[in-house]
Amino acid sequence: MNDQNTRVSEVGQLLKTRLNSLSNKTDILKAVELKALYDEIKTLPSQQRAAFGQAVNELKIELADLAKAATDQTSNLPPIDITAPFGPRGDKPILLPSEQGSEHPLTQELDKILDIFYRMGFSVIESPEIDDDYHMFSSLNFPLGHPARDDYDTFITTQPDKNGQPLIAPAHTSTMQNRVLTQFKDGLEKGQPIAAVIPGRVFRNEDLDARHEHTFYQLEGIYVNRGVHAGQLIATLKTFLQTYYSKELRVKTQPFYFPFTEPSFEFALSCPFCTDGCSVCSHSGWIELLGCGLIHPNVLSQAGVDISQYTGFAWGFGIERLVMMKYGIEDIRYFQSARLDFLRQF
Ligand SMILES: [Zn+2]
Repeated sequence: MNDQNTRVSEVGQLLKTRLNSLSNKTDILKAVELKALYDEIKTLPSQQRAAFGQAVNELKIELADLAKAATDQTSNLPPIDITAPFGPRGDKPILLPSEQGSEHPLTQELDKILDIFYRMGFSVIESPEIDDDYHMFSSLNFPLGHPARDDYDTFITTQPDKNGQPLIAPAHTSTMQNRVLTQFKDGLEKGQPIAAVIPGRVFRNEDLDARHEHTFYQLEGIYVNRGVHAGQLIATLKTFLQTYYSKELRVKTQPFYFPFTEPSFEFALSCPFCTDGCSVCSHSGWIELLGCGLIHPNVLSQAGVDISQYTGFAWGFGIERLVMMKYGIEDIRYFQSARLDFLRQF
């Protein structure tokens, strides 16, 4: 008899410990150990059965009470906002009332931008916020020691990648070109062009002013197919910009230099705000918006694309700049300033 009571209390101890690890606390009542105790009642001589059965029943009631208490406690915990900062004494973040918040203007505008490209047949791919030298430079036709590496005021970490080069905070979203080309090149044979846009956060060691931030967002675009030429690049960007700004625009290109495109262009559009000059366009009537060009054959070959068959174009623009022009925002630093008087206008 004593042996049996000891075993009931041992099983009880075991199940109370297990209760902590269960997400659904009432599952403890379905434990095989508890069922084994119930099965054993029937096997006992009648004079022991009543006392043992009572002990098992009491254990079950105790477990049911504990499970209920634990469930109540879990569901009464206040929800937390995992993005909220911890307090100065490490106190838990509190849930900010969502009805007082709204999506950041850049998120709202990025959704509109991606929607336009999605309707034009581009898929959306994300880019990492830490990358290696190969994707930042080497795969893009900037070999080691190439002077144009210095044009990207890059933040470099002290941690090495697998080739012993330091890991990098990407200074442009072109870091994704090699990955996208490699991933989708097999579709080219089946007549599926590579068409992707890549929004991403990028970092540069800039002197900060109304037009320069150390952290900002870019949108990269890549298109590869048979017979792709610069006219298609210009038409694609013009179609996008006219849709985004909801008005007819004139565009122009002028030659530029990037290691990863050839030819390379600086792309300008007629100022959406004026017909004969205003402060946004520095009274020129034109706004230089982005860099673009036909993807350099070295970049395509590096990813294993057959350059005797395929050509492509790519572009990259700053998302803040596009949004600033749309709403006449004068200072890029407003976006990360957490100024409610600015954010509430969206
Ligand atoms: Zn203007």
